[in-house]
Amino acid sequence: MKFHIALIPGDGIGPEIVTEAKKVLDRVAEKYEHVFTYESLLMGGCSIDVYGESLTDETLERAKKSDAVLLGAVGGNVGNSRWYDIEPSKRPEAGLLKIRKGLELFANIRPAYLYEELKAACPLKEEIADQGFDMVIMRELTGGLYFGTHKTEEIDGVSKATDVLTYDEKEIRRIAVKAFEIARKRRSSVISVDKANVLDASRLWRKVVNEVAADYPDVTLSHMLVDNCAMQLVKDPAQFDVILTENMFGDILSDEASMVTGSIGMLSSASLGAGKLGLYEPSHGSAPDIAGQNVANPIATILSAAMLLRYSFDLDEEAAAVEAAVKQVLAEGYRTTDIMSEGCQLVGTKEMGDLITARI
Ligand code: NAD
Repeated sequence: MKFHIALIPGDGIGPEIVTEAKKVLDRVAEKYEHVFTYESLLMGGCSIDVYGESLTDETLERAKKSDAVLLGAVGGNVGNSRWYDIEPSKRPEAGLLKIRKGLELFANIRPAYLYEELKAACPLKEEIADQGFDMVIMRELTGGLYFGTHKTEEIDGVSKATDVLTYDEKEIRRIAVKAFEIARKRRSSVISVDKANVLDASRLWRKVVNEVAADYPDVTLSHMLVDNCAMQLVKDPAQFDVILTENMFGDILSDEASMVTGSIGMLSSASLGAGKLGLYEPSHGSAPDIAGQNVANPIATILSAAMLLRYSFDLDEEAAAVEAAVKQVLAEGYRTTDIMSEGCQLVGTKEMGDLITARI
């Protein structure tokens, strides 16, 4: 099959880790006889240096025309960089908001997977970590409390702040459909998380998710209150396959879930819209402190490329081959600095990319 991929290396370690992910994609194309074409686009500080803003309209249009976008990370040293002496709407991170909005991405997916070899980094009790876990959190990205009306006023000398939480049934339905579709590619279980005992928005959420579930009789659906979910994530994470939730709950729960996996250099993510076009990026930032030293862990970006294959191109077997190669390299004892432990073999960014590529 033929696909066109927009690469946005960005700043800091971005170019190094995207180079390794592209190497992996090239190997997939070669092995499975696909044709992947690429174009490299500027976003972040590197775009400010050339165009005076983080993401130009023209670059956004080119990203829209691709089949998928693979992003490294953007931004510099916030306290000490020329990119932060300009107005906030032009700073590196503004490009992230602009591209997510421009590509109409409303669903964010973050997997939390515990690698057998990295169990020592998991902060959970040994008997819980021993059971392992493999879940994805699907978070609604463009609605809810963060996008409602915000105001602070003074009434009779007393300050009062109000934030409005709204969801309509269309917003809920489209993300619920995504969650059920993704569950079908996994273990066919969705746990929808809400606060339906208190919030109207959650009661509507639950009603619409139940309606969507009727179209997916092969997928098991259950509901969980958000406070219970926060507890279950540290008590029994093995029970989760796909967690579907609204914006603010997802913001908090996805950070909690990623924390229990232990290493930031391993965490991939995807943002999807109504069609197949998606934006894939590691969950970490541009790590300017280690940029250009060949020490960054490229695995989060390589696993993001695997998500790209699965969710934008429907190449499930190819995605699984990339994930298996990552597992194999870890099982063989190769580690970058951030995940290094005793008895393992320390490798750099480029070597880690080569090792994974060679095992596909
Ligand atoms: P960060 O994630 O870049 O770094 C936090 C720590 O983790 C650093 O010590 C870094 O060296 C380490 N680290 C991160 N990724 C790593 C990897 N792949 N391998 C090994 N170590 C890794 O977060 P920060 O320092 O708060 O932010 C740095 C810059 O990144 C800022 O400009 C920030 O705005 C930006 N940022 C961008 C994104 C994005 O592009 N999506 C996300 C978060 C932060």
